Amino acid sequence: MFVLDKKEMMIQTLGKFVDMVSKELPDDVMAKLKELRVQEEQPLAKAIYDVMFENMDKAKKLSRPTCQDTGVIQYFVRTGAKFPYLGQLREILKEATILATKSAPLRLNAVEVFDEVNTGTNVGTDIPYITWEIVDDSTTVEIEVYQAGGGCSLPGRSIVLPPLAGYEGAMQFVFDTVVNWGINACPPLIVGIGIGTCSNSSALLSKKAMLRPVGTSHPHPKAAEMERTIEKGLNDIGLGPQGISGKNSVMAVHIEGMAHHPSVLGVGVTIGCWANRHGVIRFDEHMNYEIVSHKGVSL
Ligand code: SF4
Repeated sequence: MFVLDKKEMMIQTLGKFVDMVSKELPDDVMAKLKELRVQEEQPLAKAIYDVMFENMDKAKKLSRPTCQDTGVIQYFVRTGAKFPYLGQLREILKEATILATKSAPLRLNAVEVFDEVNTGTNVGTDIPYITWEIVDDSTTVEIEVYQAGGGCSLPGRSIVLPPLAGYEGAMQFVFDTVVNWGINACPPLIVGIGIGTCSNSSALLSKKAMLRPVGTSHPHPKAAEMERTIEKGLNDIGLGPQGISGKNSVMAVHIEGMAHHPSVLGVGVTIGCWANRHGVIRFDEHMNYEIVSHKGVSL
């Protein structure tokens, strides 16, 4: 009998997982969209939510992506130092991306830099984008995949503020960003904010914040209060679903922070759209897997 080796098993499983993530939103996003849908009173806003849910229903039934823009594939790897396939993981993630691109199918979104030629595989220089975090010395790995669409990536930006700007300056930057650009990202939005020192550390933290499960708060009371304040302020603007106006603008506002240089405050903003296609899967060294983000889904 033909038996797949462990590397090939992981490629096949991950490929199916990336395919599934393009077609089914994670549990936290689904729950929040349902909650926001019932709050709408304006007929047009209600109709937009109805279309979103019909779209999601059909995506699942017909096995088609939730949105035509299936994004650039990004992986956030949180691994134990003793996961035995660590050295092969980059190759595994690339192969899984190519597999899902064919099976889903995913839109071809990797354009080779400078040459401006589409690679036709969703793989190119540093694409899929991978960030690595060694979290402990276990033999397991947790992989989060995110499908970064063009419209929702568009508002992303970071800035390094002078010392006197303070947290008020950070909030001003977030509001300016969302008010000026958020409508391009198909609301209701998930707003991720990163507080650090430089542009790259705050930008990376803002992506981490955007991917945090909807419904969670930062454990620090001041950060949690800032999240609530910004969320209320953005909802008061009333972007509504797809920006046609309505009760809410956002699904969530999440902040992540790190100790920073005393002279500056780096602020990053990453926006996620209503079709927030991300998922988390955990593997052990035997290639047993658990899907964390989508309960009851089998591959
Ligand atoms: S912002 Fe999101 S829902 Fe809108 S087109 Fe882009 S990927 Fe699709």
